[in-house]
Formats: sequence, structure tokens, C-alpha cells
Amino acid sequence: MEGAAARIRRLCESGRIAEALSTVRSPPTIPVYAELLRGCASHRLLALGRALHAQILSSSSSSSSSSNSSSSSVFLANHILNMYCKCQRLDLAQQLFDEMPHRNLVSWTALLTGLAHANRRHDCRRLFTAMLRTHIPNEYAVSAAIAASAGDGDRLFVSQAHALACKTGLSACVAVGNALVAAYSEDEAWSVFVAMPQRNSITWNSIISGAEGRQALSLFAMMLREGVPCDCCTLIVVASSCSAAVQCHAVQAVATKTGLISEAKVATALLKACSLIGGEPEELYELFSEARSRDLVSWTSIIAAVAGDDGGSQSRKPGHHQAAMLFAGLRREGLSPDRYTFSAMAKACASSSADRHPSALHGLAMRSGLAGDIVLGNSLVHAYARCGSVGSAEKLFGEMPARDLVSWNTMIKAYSLHGRGQAALKAFAAMDVAPDSATFVGLLSACSHSGLVEDGKAVFDTMAGEHGVEPELDHYACMVDVLGRAGRLVEAEELVERMPMEPDAVVWSGLLGACRKYGDLTMAERAAQRLVAVAPERSAGYVIISSMYSEQGSFAEAAPYWKGMKELGVKKVAGLSWIEIGNRVHEFAVGGHRHPEIKAIMAELRLLLVKVKAIGYDPETRLVLHEIEQGQKEEQLYWHSEKLALVYGLMNASPSQDSIRIMKNIRICVDCHRFIKLVTKCMNKEVIVRDSNRFHHFKDGFCSCNDFW
Ligand code: ZN
Ligand code: ZN
Repeated sequence: MEGAAARIRRLCESGRIAEALSTVRSPPTIPVYAELLRGCASHRLLALGRALHAQILSSSSSSSSSSNSSSSSVFLANHILNMYCKCQRLDLAQQLFDEMPHRNLVSWTALLTGLAHANRRHDCRRLFTAMLRTHIPNEYAVSAAIAASAGDGDRLFVSQAHALACKTGLSACVAVGNALVAAYSEDEAWSVFVAMPQRNSITWNSIISGAEGRQALSLFAMMLREGVPCDCCTLIVVASSCSAAVQCHAVQAVATKTGLISEAKVATALLKACSLIGGEPEELYELFSEARSRDLVSWTSIIAAVAGDDGGSQSRKPGHHQAAMLFAGLRREGLSPDRYTFSAMAKACASSSADRHPSALHGLAMRSGLAGDIVLGNSLVHAYARCGSVGSAEKLFGEMPARDLVSWNTMIKAYSLHGRGQAALKAFAAMDVAPDSATFVGLLSACSHSGLVEDGKAVFDTMAGEHGVEPELDHYACMVDVLGRAGRLVEAEELVERMPMEPDAVVWSGLLGACRKYGDLTMAERAAQRLVAVAPERSAGYVIISSMYSEQGSFAEAAPYWKGMKELGVKKVAGLSWIEIGNRVHEFAVGGHRHPEIKAIMAELRLLLVKVKAIGYDPETRLVLHEIEQGQKEEQLYWHSEKLALVYGLMNASPSQDSIRIMKNIRICVDCHRFIKLVTKCMNKEVIVRDSNRFHHFKDGFCSCNDFW
């Protein structure tokens, strides 16, 4: 008996609910149901959870109503409630809650916490007020209510809840104190913090993250003196406050002593801090190589740190090469990489442009007996997609024996990157787990990248109602893109105006880009002003609006923007392109002067220019600054980094090679896009360009983006 229960629990904990259910001799007992529901909640298995709910309902109606069943039915209902909350189906949770004949403190608290986590602040506060009529709240209910008031700054509610907590003695609870510290701004947060009888690492993390620089570091020292154990979050925040090498090393020492250095996030934060203060990340490698005990965990974390984030950073060279060296190093030391090492390597592969890396890694993982591992499978799907091979990503995804939410989100994002909007929608329709916020970001950007306006609108409109995911800033930004790219500028601007939150720079630059594409100077002017207001340091606002004026010949109106940009010292992000030849990554900047073979590359490019001009290439000179003479404008365009990388790729390509893969740190420009299309008309190789935003597959004179990016 013991063994069976333990087995069910183990299966539930690892998310294998269906398997667990199949081992149960029917009908399941109440504790077994509770275990199954808890498993569904923590793995967000909505479909199974709902099936269990239905099964419980039917079995309770068939069994004659016994007198003492009400307490056990509240117990199970609370588990179902919690499952719906965790699966982000607040609508179902609310419905169940409303229908429950009996509710206890746990029921109220479960729904309150669910609402607070889902950012349904207003509903959360309303429920809390209703709860007070019948129940004295516990510390979790109070902290949920406080957290729900922190985000939108309902000061009055926070102080009322604070007063209530003081009256009921709950203010002495750490959870309540923590919620108050997070909700209040500086001075009040500090006085709550000082008065707290007990503080844990969450308390310290929240007070430290509200502090800056030196202050954060001295608070960190106090925390250590009080003997409160620091965690990853503490170290990450503190690392970002370091402004000198000594501080970095001190934090690194704590991280090593506590063993938290082996957490990839901590190692990454330290690496970042090191490089921000001018120290080389190599310093940390050195520290690492001097470390006494180098085990698999520390090797893995340093690989993960080197792999970095493959999406955002605009000037970082792909870290795959260094990661591969480390990977070889650990294998030389006789260690066998595990699923985490492989996942970290997969992440590193995603930062390269060559799909032979993920495929080699994939092969090695299979031989190590890791086929079928979900976490690794997800990382490999991601890596294949980021290397331009959406087909291999799709194949692996199809072969995975089990998939979780991350798998689906990764696949949808992969389709989005490659402009395969219909495929993304199809995958979404086939999902057997509840979608979350990230699913919708992937889906909406897929619609935007494929020009699927109506589908995008339908997705956006049903997010909250059908799927219980409230649209956030990211979703609005995607939706503005969907409308803007399709030329529906008025609708896009209306959407921005009615957003419930403050539009950020991403939203405004999306709208501005659309205005440029469709030549709406009046709206562009409005968007540019708002963009410059929210993000004066970003160059896009100044550059786009002044070039729009310049293109029209209105130099007088463009002038203030150029001036503003100069005065603020705003710099355009320099375009960089990378191409991998053999085992080396070659980096190209505009002009390519740093490349040793630049003379040969330029000669080759001139020959290619003659060829493509013969089939209709006409340099897009209106994009270049107006101060430059026509001839010079053309020259400037010719030496764009992606053209140089392409030529270098062609020079080194073998006849049997069917594609050339290039990575670029910013978006590809209109001229290079047109140029590459024509180049692929003259030869039978595919050119795959990954820019900061998406993939372009050029073939036979066409691009997979349909000139829509
Ligand atoms: Zn270009
Ligand atoms: Zn394209």
C-alpha cells in the first residue's frame, strides 16, 4: 500500500498524471485525487485537471450524499480551485468558487492568491473586501491583497490593509511584511523593514533591490552579518550594483562559498558585472579555472554564462565558440555531460548561425541516452530554429515523446521567427496544455511577421476571455505591429491610445516604423515625439523622422532632430554581421576595414554589383543621410556589413553547399534586402539571414518574409 501511494506521488510530481491515474485501482480516494490535482497544478496540465474535475463531480453525484462529505468536498474543491488558478484559468476558478456550497479560509485564500498572481488587481481587492465580511484573513490573503495594490499604486488600499494587519497581529508575519516592503516606496518601505520582527531572504532581496550602488552593497553586508542566507536573487541584484573590481570579487567570493556560483543566472550576473566595469569576462574564466573543485555543475554553469542570451544583445559576438571549447574541456577531464550541460550547450548553439552545431550536439545527446528528455528537447528545438533550420526544429518537436508548455512556446516562437504564421496558428490549435502569456507573444508576432492581420486580431481579442491571459505590454506591442505592418495605421494608433498601460519605446518605435513604411509623416511626427519622450537615448526616433523629412526634401524640419540627437550624444547602433567559415566566426562592420581579406572581398563585391545591376539593382540611396553626395551614398550602401559577409561567404562556399547563413545584430536594411534577393536570382544557393528581429530565407529572387519585416 505504502509503495503504491509513494509511486503515485512520484509520478504526479514529475507531471505524469495520466500514468499515475492508470495505476490507481478505481475509484480513487480523496487523498489520491488531491495528489493528482496537485500534480496538474504544478505542471499546468489543464486538460487533465478538467477531466479529473469532471470525474470527481460525476462520482460524487452517483454516490449517495453522506453526511460528513461536505468537509471532504471543500477539501477537494480547494485543490481544483488551486489547479485552475495555477493553469491561469481564473474564469473557471471563479466559477467554481461561486458555485461552492461551502467555502473555508483556504478557498478564499487560493482564489485571492490566484488573482494576485494573474495581476487581476481590481478583482483581487474586491474579493478581499468581500472576504472580510465572513472571515478573518490569514497572512497569505493579506499579502495577496497588498501585492494586488502595489502594482497600480492604490496607496489607500495598501495602508488600510496595513492597518488591518496591525490590528490582527498579522503584521508580524514575514509574508505580510515582505508584501508591504515591496508595495511601499522608499521611506515607508524602510520603516516597515526596520520594524519587522523577523526577516527572511525575500525581505532582504526586496529592500536591496530598491537600493542603489553602495547602499545596496552595505545592505548586503548587513544581511550576511544577520546570518540570513542569501539566494540567487540576492546575488544577482548585488552583482548589478557593483561598480569596482573589488566589489565584484567580494560578491564572487560569497557566491563561491555558498555554492550559488554554480547557478547559471548568478554566474551570468557576475560575468555581466565584470564586463560592465571594464573587466574582461575572461577574468571570471580565470577565477573559474583556479577554483579548487571543478565539477560538472560548475562547468555547466560557466558554459551557460558564456552562452549568454542569444536574442537581445546588439553587439555581442556569438558565444558558441568559447562554449564549445569549455565543453571539450570538461569532456577531456573525463566528465560526462548531463542534460543540463547539453541544454547549456544547446543555448550556446542557438547563438551561432551554423545548424551543424545543434545537429552534432543532438547526435551526441542521443548517444548519451538523453533522447526524449523534455528540457533538452526544448533547448534543441530552440537551437535549430535559431540556426535557421526550422525544418529540423519541427522534426525534433514532432518526435518528442512528451511536450510541455515550454515545448509548445518554443515551437510557436520558431515559426514566428521564420515568418510561418499559419504553422504557428496550427500549432496553437493543437496545444494540449494551457497557453500562457509567452504563447501569445509568440503567436501575435508570428501573425505580424506573416501579415496575418485578421488572425492576429482574433487571437488578441480572445486571449483574455477564452484563455484567461490578460494582454500585457508585449501583447499590445505585437498587436500594434500586426496592424502597422499591414498599413492599418489609424487602427494601430487607436490601439496605442486605448492601451490600459503606458506605451513604452517598443510600442512607439513599432508605430513609427509603420508610419515610415507607409509614408504617414503626420502620424510619424506624433509617434517620434512620444518615442523621444519615453526613450531619449534610443536613436530610432531621431533617425526615422529626420530621414522621412530629408526624403521629402524638408531639411529644415529634419534639422532639429539631427541636432537633438547630437546634443544628447545618441549614437546609432553600429551594424555588425557574422558568418561562420570553417571553425571561425568572421565579424564584419560597415566598410569591413578590420577584416584581413577586405581588399579581395571588395574586388569580388564590385564584380557582383555589375551582375546584379544588370538585372535591375538600383541602390536605395534615399535611406542614406542627405548630407552625402550621391556617389558617396552608393559607396556607403555597398559596404554594409551583411553585403560584405555575403560576399565572403560566397568566396568560401563549396559547390555542394546549398546555403549561406549570416547573422546581423540589427534589422536588415531595405537596400541589402533587395540586393540579396537579386544575388540569389543569379545562383542556386539559398541565403539565410538572421537579423535582430527574424529570419529571411532568400531564394530565386524572393524572400520568405515577402518583403514584410
Ligand atoms: Zn544594408
Ligand atoms: Zn526578407
